[in-house]
Amino acid sequence: MFSKRVVKVGKLTIGGSNSVVIQSMLNKFSEDVNGNLEQAANLEKTGCELIRISVPNKASLKTVYALKKALNTPIVADIHFNYKMAIESIYAGVDKIRINPGTIEKSNVKSIVAACLQNNIPIRVGINSGSIPVQILKAKGRTPEGLVAAALDSVALLNRFDFDNIIISVKSSNVLKTIKAYKLLALDCDYPLHLGVTESGNLEAGVVKSAIGVGVLLADGIGDTIRVSLTGDPLGEIVIAKEILKALDLKKGLNVISCPTCGRTRVDVTKIVNLLKQALIERHLDDLDMKVAVMGCVVNGSGEAKEADFGIVAGDGCGVIFKKGEVIKKVAEECLVKELIKLIEEGKKGEV
Ligand code: SF4
Repeated sequence: MFSKRVVKVGKLTIGGSNSVVIQSMLNKFSEDVNGNLEQAANLEKTGCELIRISVPNKASLKTVYALKKALNTPIVADIHFNYKMAIESIYAGVDKIRINPGTIEKSNVKSIVAACLQNNIPIRVGINSGSIPVQILKAKGRTPEGLVAAALDSVALLNRFDFDNIIISVKSSNVLKTIKAYKLLALDCDYPLHLGVTESGNLEAGVVKSAIGVGVLLADGIGDTIRVSLTGDPLGEIVIAKEILKALDLKKGLNVISCPTCGRTRVDVTKIVNLLKQALIERHLDDLDMKVAVMGCVVNGSGEAKEADFGIVAGDGCGVIFKKGEVIKKVAEECLVKELIKLIEEGKKGEV
């Protein structure tokens, strides 16, 4: 969204004024064709726009071919050490290659570049704090400056081979180092940037680190594609990435706001919110660009509900439903979700 240059990755255009692209990475064994196909199809359904797969050996190429045949989503081959796997992946039809030139001989990088040029495939220079090249590590350590130096060194190498079709990432497992590295990098180049906090941990830690790291940068106008990196099922990465983008008004979609509840609450707000979200998903209403507020009482409730497209302000065992700031009706607690869904569906029909 924010870089000056744009890079085509299959059907996607990354950078410039385009929307921020959500991506993730498969974590089944690369050789497991069916397992990866299933996971990739689920990622695609959940809203993943770009799918990366590790290609460490010849056996994993079978999976790459299968993914390219089965999916619409562009595929990225993640390559370390074995440059031949990059070239074979390009023959298999991948849409982007991710390399960390620090893990590949320079002469072999030249061979990858030649194949990319021939097939118009971009390269992501993916620098991680754990794999900074030795000479830069000695000079700068695993610092933001070290990450940026490693990235620019790699970009200069690609440029020497007349290659400019580049996306860059400089990920650290430390949030503040990640933020500083990308800020420095954004000052030094105008290539599209892939954002992420690497090895950010399990769900709780990973969500917080990614939301802060990626969120601060995006809020500052830096970043064109994001990967929320979580230890676990990659489907969760897409859900969190969407929430980060929606929180920053960089993506449209359903926004359910609800109060944390307190001693004043006289209905089960948690149950109402869970039932509501489930019902919206089941009725395919979750992709509507809409704000729905579920508030436990009138203290903040009226204000929030009036601001939202639809709102519930709870009383004692009941709730008042708002639509675009107007009170529509008072409903018993057990009927609130059903009535609200009815109104949302009527509203949707009215728009068609
Ligand atoms: S909106 Fe009402 S019930 Fe909810 S946290 Fe605030 S005061 Fe408590």
